[in-house]
Amino acid sequence: MALVDIAARVLVRPRIFFIDTGFLFDETYELRRRIEERYGVEIEAVDPSMTPETQADAFGDRLWSIDPDLCCRIRKVDPLRERLSGLSAWVTAIRRDQTAFRATARAVEWDLRWGLVKVNPLASWTRTEIWEHILDHRVPYNPLHDRGYPSIGCTHCTRAVGDGEDERAGRWAGRAKTECGLHG
Ligand code: SF4
Repeated sequence: MALVDIAARVLVRPRIFFIDTGFLFDETYELRRRIEERYGVEIEAVDPSMTPETQADAFGDRLWSIDPDLCCRIRKVDPLRERLSGLSAWVTAIRRDQTAFRATARAVEWDLRWGLVKVNPLASWTRTEIWEHILDHRVPYNPLHDRGYPSIGCTHCTRAVGDGEDERAGRWAGRAKTECGLHG
């Protein structure tokens, strides 16, 4: 949301999209509506080729618990690949302090995976700096953050974290998986 706020200040018509896995929290969908209203922008929903129902028919009701990598591939990675094809660059909000994997992110880098330039304007920002920006500029944010969810993804794979737990400990809790595959 900090990145959306900055983009809306410097661009007349920022092109913003999110991957709509179909499994997002109601609060996340509501946040999309609030952001569109606040900034006068349209946030494009990028859909997987399979609906939740067709995925359940093909792979069973709980693919995310049986094979989360396949579920993420169908619902996140493949749609992102398609959305980025033909573009020369994309801008993301990843930060070096989020995970060990993201610790080497540069402000501008070649995205080997997707074959385009990747711009990470917030790479060197800290979590504290993000929140300062959000609160200073009254940027709308997901109310789940105030209920113990520092990192928010799909309902099936996100839980609240306890005191002292890592920012992303609530994502795929109990599994070695730490990334959905969008960033490497
Ligand atoms: S985060 Fe979970 S529910 Fe969402 S796409 Fe990945 S495995 Fe599926």
